[in-house]
Amino acid sequence: MPVLFVGHGSPMNAIGTNPARLGWQNMGKTLGKPSVIVAVSAHWMTEGTAVRRAADNPQVNDMYGFPQALYEVHYEPKGSIEVADRVLEALGGAAKVDNTWGIDHGVWSVLSNMYPQADVPVVMVSVDPDADPQQQYAIGQQLRALRDEGAMMVCSGNVVHNLRRVNWQMDDGYDWARQFDGHIKTLIQQRQHGAIVSFRQLPNHDKAIPTTEHFLPLLTALGATDERDQVSVFNDYCELGSMSMTSYVFQPA
Ligand code: ZN
Repeated sequence: MPVLFVGHGSPMNAIGTNPARLGWQNMGKTLGKPSVIVAVSAHWMTEGTAVRRAADNPQVNDMYGFPQALYEVHYEPKGSIEVADRVLEALGGAAKVDNTWGIDHGVWSVLSNMYPQADVPVVMVSVDPDADPQQQYAIGQQLRALRDEGAMMVCSGNVVHNLRRVNWQMDDGYDWARQFDGHIKTLIQQRQHGAIVSFRQLPNHDKAIPTTEHFLPLLTALGATDERDQVSVFNDYCELGSMSMTSYVFQPA
């Protein structure tokens, strides 16, 4: 099964007419339905790695001050205790069960468009914003085997994400945002994962990702790939000045 890194951007991308949403809808049709999705969300931040182990996924509307239409999106796919146990096993006791969270907007905004019937079970995995980046990459490596067992991995965040620099009037990105996004894209295409894990040495990283929680799901996605995977890029653009939507699918040819 493929592994995806999806840039989710503004929660408003979930509804209405916009290129991100169109990209997600197309990707759902192109990839077809997996039996289960393991979702890593930038919006579920925990100390250490947490896994939801439950038969359900209550929707978490963790966004504030948006139009009412956004709060009318209902998306609650089932969970999977069986697959959650596999995830916990693959992570070798390093992760803990935490059922206090559900499916947050980082994940439901994307999946409600990829699989609008909510008929693919989802196992939620958190991000530890204080973890060593190498550790976040290693989590992907540990989860890689799940792909052979029928699980699609969807890691949701943003390569460039600076809320303090958001400009709601801008359709494109600032120069530094486009440069950082392009740099990461080149490194991904060249499979230079070490340089991406060491992102604090890249130019403009301080402006592009002043906090790392939206970037870390990319490291997990990359860790879950291997040499057989080919990468394709979709939703390849920046918006709001300081946000990149650039998304990747990794799967064998
Ligand atoms: Zn977000």
